Amino acid sequence: MKNCFLILLSLFSLSLPAQDIYLHCGKLVDTENGEILTQKTIVVSGNKIISILNGYIDSANPKDSIVDLKSNTVMPGLIDLHVHMESEYNPKKYMDKFTDNEADIAFKSVKFARTTLMSGFTTVRDLGGSGVNIALRNAINQGHIVGPRIFTAGKAIATTGGHADPTNGSSKLLMGDPGPEQGVINSADEAKKAVRQRYKNGADNIKITATGGVLSVAKNGQNPQFTLEEVQAICATAKDYGMIIAAHAHGDEGMQRAVIGGVTTIEHGTKMSEQTMDLMMQYGTYLVPTITAGKAVADNAKIKGFYPEIIVPKALEIGPKIQNTFAKAYKHGVKIAFGTDAGVFPHGLNAKEFGYMVEVGMPPMKALQSATTTNATVLGLADELGQLKEGYLADIVATNEDPIENISTLENVVFVMKEGVVYKN
Ligand SMILES: [Zn+2]
Repeated sequence: MKNCFLILLSLFSLSLPAQDIYLHCGKLVDTENGEILTQKTIVVSGNKIISILNGYIDSANPKDSIVDLKSNTVMPGLIDLHVHMESEYNPKKYMDKFTDNEADIAFKSVKFARTTLMSGFTTVRDLGGSGVNIALRNAINQGHIVGPRIFTAGKAIATTGGHADPTNGSSKLLMGDPGPEQGVINSADEAKKAVRQRYKNGADNIKITATGGVLSVAKNGQNPQFTLEEVQAICATAKDYGMIIAAHAHGDEGMQRAVIGGVTTIEHGTKMSEQTMDLMMQYGTYLVPTITAGKAVADNAKIKGFYPEIIVPKALEIGPKIQNTFAKAYKHGVKIAFGTDAGVFPHGLNAKEFGYMVEVGMPPMKALQSATTTNATVLGLADELGQLKEGYLADIVATNEDPIENISTLENVVFVMKEGVVYKN
């Protein structure tokens, strides 16, 4: 009889699921409908949300745990569509490429990844580095290190001498003639090869530098740097492999070629004309503003010696314009996806972007939706990420205050869960 009872007991406990987590949420941001809900319980099992219940519900299973977030506002894990996980700018950065080996880059990126996750960003799109970003993604996915879910472009694609040509500013001895494998193309055929090489290397998406840029050692920060034919070849090939395409762009002509060529997102968009805004609406292209980076480069350019001399005038001219362009594009009706260019400024400060968006007219809820539902849609993951909903991945963060009342509270995320694992509480 006693044995029977023990067998029954063990069968019963076997049938119980592994430990579930019950989150008691004082406020909950419904990013799908743009509403704040109150007094909810999120039940997490494994890596997923299995239900959202009214009121504060306790589990009948003593093995389950309860997280008290009754005085907090709870929302989906934040998504940043423009980061550089491998690096962080400092006055010595321009020497790093001559001194750092891949292992040096890797160790630094481990720290940046951790900082990013702890600040509430559970998913990021990495828009370019040396290729260490691919190994970093794998190490996080395999549980070796702690960081956000990464979707990476590997090494960005440029044209000779263009923004993201890795040998810009080098002596002839070191300059060489990088090609498609290194991310430098000069024809439609080379463009196709560069995309396919990235796929082979394990990249998730494609980044091109459609115009000159601020931080490359080159004179022009906004000229078009790809022909329309080259952009079209890149986009058509990327789409064959299910990859989305991001285009760095400051000048209007290069931006228009990128939009017409078929890119998914325009990064920065600094000198966007109204005609380009109309084109973006016609083609369904998103703007990823990166206001925080614009402000950071303008501030750093005022510090003597922070950047090489050739960069200073570009940073002072382009940096301060980005917030205003965002405001105009948003009011015009261009779709806005959230992205910061973290790495151009210190990792972990990504949430400053929300304040800059709200400051020039975007309602706080819309800003939050850009970093959740919109970004999940851009990544093709709208059924898994960006919402607190049954069946979605359990990426959950919380703040002390309600971000709709005080947007800067997002800069101090107090609770972080990624795929059901609590990293910060
Ligand atoms: Zn960038």
